[in-house]
Amino acid sequence: MTEHKAIPEKETGWKFDNSYASLPNSLHARINPTPVRSPKLIILNERLATSMGLNAEALKSHEGVEMLAGNQIPDGALPLAQAYAGHQFGYFNMLGDGRAVLLGEQITPSGERLDIQLKGSGRTPYSRGGDGRAALGPMLREYIISEAMHALGIATTRSLAVVTTGEIINREIGLPGAILTRVAASHLRVGTFQYVARWGTVEELRALADYALQRHFPEIGTADNLYLSLLQAVIKRQAVLIANWQLMGFIHGVMNTDNMAISGETIDYGPCAFMDTYDPATVFSSIDSNGRYAYGNQPHIAAWNLARLAEALLPLLHVNEEQAVKLAEGAISDFGELYHRNWLKGMRAKLGMFNEESEDESLIEDLLVMMQKYRADYTNTFRALTMDQLDDSVLFGTEEFAQWHELWLARLSRQQEPQASSHQLMRNSNPAIIPRNHRVEEALEAAEQQEDYSVMERLLDVLSSPFAYSPEQTDYTTLPAPSTRPYRTYCGT
Ligand code: AMP
Ligand code: MG
Repeated sequence: MTEHKAIPEKETGWKFDNSYASLPNSLHARINPTPVRSPKLIILNERLATSMGLNAEALKSHEGVEMLAGNQIPDGALPLAQAYAGHQFGYFNMLGDGRAVLLGEQITPSGERLDIQLKGSGRTPYSRGGDGRAALGPMLREYIISEAMHALGIATTRSLAVVTTGEIINREIGLPGAILTRVAASHLRVGTFQYVARWGTVEELRALADYALQRHFPEIGTADNLYLSLLQAVIKRQAVLIANWQLMGFIHGVMNTDNMAISGETIDYGPCAFMDTYDPATVFSSIDSNGRYAYGNQPHIAAWNLARLAEALLPLLHVNEEQAVKLAEGAISDFGELYHRNWLKGMRAKLGMFNEESEDESLIEDLLVMMQKYRADYTNTFRALTMDQLDDSVLFGTEEFAQWHELWLARLSRQQEPQASSHQLMRNSNPAIIPRNHRVEEALEAAEQQEDYSVMERLLDVLSSPFAYSPEQTDYTTLPAPSTRPYRTYCGT
């Protein structure tokens, strides 16, 4: 394959290791990206590149772009597709990287190990009927939302670059093909464990669990029951992650078990979106007609997914199956309490509370109930409370709210910390801006239809500091014009 020439490491700064490749062969398939016709760099995350020890200028050069498109393989990379399974909308399937390859793990200057994955890089042994490709719109969408999530302080995979391929892909209509370079703590999924539990041996399962322990939870060391500790640690991270989603109003959209990362990072941005009007029943995915992945259902689904992980780990938890089930059930039953504790802590911060009072939870619930009743915007309500600038929204005009507001102020006056500290805590906990759906769509439309990337670049710029409360952000806090149809995003592949 003459296309695959090596790039000298010193130019781009790649420093690959390939620990995943040394896991049992059944877990992956060696495959190079399929070369594309004429790659063009659309966006490069220069700050991320630099922090990973990469040379942004070299990545922008012809050779760098060839690499981001999969036309050249950097020195030290050992491309492979990962095998995994997953429950999709409750149904178990064999999946795997059908349109992505893992180039390897970049070892950063600070010693971090980060997966580098090209998404949209061509067919693999796990492609089933798919073409292995991705369209520009959805890849830019993942770039925008993942970077916004990172700036909001939510654990997530990152986006290093998007290139177009110069090829048109078939999606009912012809769309420009694109490849996203995704950066992740790892791509180990709940579904990876499900795959091995279903089709692998216990030795393979143990190798995978040991790998996850070493890579993500080295602090567990030599605990008594290593694999129970692994399960508990994943549950803990997910409890933090899902609480953060709820606190920021983020709806993942497709919480299938293959889209839940063991590392605790948000992964696989498909039909995700941030909620505008507060309503726990909010669904954005066009294919989620039963509301399985609705905003208010996310904690419940997370627990369901973690139960699937626990099931997969059963053979490692205890030699006696009954005992193993008991241990698994105990761990899973902790999720609800862990989640709730994180959520309550975050909600207290959103309302400027430092200490704990027993009535706090009902005060919070009362606010949420009113927000739902008067169809208040989730982000803007907290923003208005933070700035003490109550606008002319329906909620703020009600007597109910006036009473609540008085109780809340009285609650804050009972704590030692001065008002200024409460205000600061609220500013750090309530984003002034989020990637609002109409703004994201506007940016994607300009990119896809006019090859105008300036709208997206401006959006990315304001989203990079969501807690700045700067004047130029005001424009991005306005709601979309009322629409007759509810907002839906599609699993655009
Ligand atoms: P996702 O909805 O992105 O989580 O993908 C679910 C599964 O479908 C994964 O196994 C993907 O690799 C696979 N898949 C999605 N799109 C494609 C495509 N265009 N070609 C091949 N496989 C795909
Ligand atoms: Mg997925």
